[in-house]
Amino acid sequence: MPFEQRKQTPYVFYGQTTSLCEECLALVPAKILIEEGEVYYQKRCPAHGVQKTRVSSDAGYFKWCKDFQKPGDRPLDYQTRTEYGCPLDCGLCPDHEQHSCLALIEINEECNLECPVCFAESSPMRKKHLSLDKVGFMMDALVKSEGEPDILQISGGEPTIHPQIVDILKLAKTKPIRHLMINTNGVRIASDKEFVKQLAALRPGFEVYLQFDSMKKEALENLRGVDLRNVRKKALDNLEEAGISTTPVVTVKKGVNEDEVGAIIDHALSYRCVRGVTFQPVQDAGRNEGFDKNRDRVLLSDIRRGIYEQSSVFKAPDIIPLPCNPETISIAYGIRDGRKVTPITSLIPQHDLVAAVPNAVSFEKNRELKQRVIDLFSLSSGDLNTAERMQSLLCCLPEIPVLKNMSYENVFRVTIVQFMDRFNFCLANIKRSCIHFVTPHGQIIPFENYNMFYRNGLVEEMRRRKAG
Ligand code: SF4
Ligand code: SF4
Repeated sequence: MPFEQRKQTPYVFYGQTTSLCEECLALVPAKILIEEGEVYYQKRCPAHGVQKTRVSSDAGYFKWCKDFQKPGDRPLDYQTRTEYGCPLDCGLCPDHEQHSCLALIEINEECNLECPVCFAESSPMRKKHLSLDKVGFMMDALVKSEGEPDILQISGGEPTIHPQIVDILKLAKTKPIRHLMINTNGVRIASDKEFVKQLAALRPGFEVYLQFDSMKKEALENLRGVDLRNVRKKALDNLEEAGISTTPVVTVKKGVNEDEVGAIIDHALSYRCVRGVTFQPVQDAGRNEGFDKNRDRVLLSDIRRGIYEQSSVFKAPDIIPLPCNPETISIAYGIRDGRKVTPITSLIPQHDLVAAVPNAVSFEKNRELKQRVIDLFSLSSGDLNTAERMQSLLCCLPEIPVLKNMSYENVFRVTIVQFMDRFNFCLANIKRSCIHFVTPHGQIIPFENYNMFYRNGLVEEMRRRKAG
């Protein structure tokens, strides 16, 4: 009688992490599987069974991310103890592996819009505004943790409708914060030129992070509930006129605006004030009306592919993993001269980029170049030093046309930030998170954990469950 033949799995078992049950948000083991060029988490929840979720549509890029991991940069201070285990001890607790590259302070809950997609669940009905003193306390907590914080984003709600918004921004300018941003839907900026003048007075080191999801009516109505095309145009025109550095921020939803990423980059380049574009796949947290996992999810790898297929500016090798948290953030830097952008990442040989990681095999070779690459890509958003850092890198790359008197205006970056949710949560990646909220109690909490567990108080129940 012939022996039964052993069968091969249709996938490669690439590794294992801890993720979340998509039904009950319990922490569950997840196998990382590579199958037909894509990456999946296969989770097993004792209560809700096996769930298989796609986390990357590009296995090659997913593997490449591992080569970019670098030693963490620890904060100066921790606000909590490691007690229940990650992610229940935020934070930051001493188990966290990365400082706050970018910190957010939400100064209010009220908004002049009520978007169908809003992780903060803001609306015109929510009237809470934090006092100037409270916001100052939160800034001081950040400074204690960071020394000189790289980037602070004043957020909300809609921060521009806070009654003391200008005082809050002026207060931030008195702190040792390198780069200050305001995160806004642009409604007030589009209609209030006096306010725009007050913002312009905060330069240098000030930037507007402007919600800008689409140039199409239907897509704006899907994501924001209203057609904001005119608002976006007027806001950008006013920022251009005032000469305020601006980064348009695009929330991407499958079948809604993923086909526009190239057009948005081209449109952004028609404004001198724009320093780059940030793309964020929609995160399933807070208010996310009618979200369907199978219909609406878009992945970092999908957006990366969209950029190099649709845009005439950046090609695939230009868009690389950010060493702080490679699987969740991709970045491409270029030098801008008018509407022309010369990508610089593609001019650096790939083996040099990979070897930018101090632990990589050939680190001893070209140590100086690699250190400069690490420095340059250590931030996901611009700061006053970016032009300086880029200039420094260019010295190592004589084939790039060096622009005389290069400033922040000559920098153009495209960033893809994939915030994790119940589908792609990974315990290893959350420990590397470098985008953090500062809470009114002075705690510093990774973006994803705050939106999924802390903002809504779910963490208390999870701690009770864990304590048994
Ligand atoms: S995410 Fe970071 S701060 Fe929060 S519990 Fe985990 S290690 Fe601690
Ligand atoms: S996403 Fe922004 S603009 Fe929309 S409701 Fe929320 S805070 Fe307001």
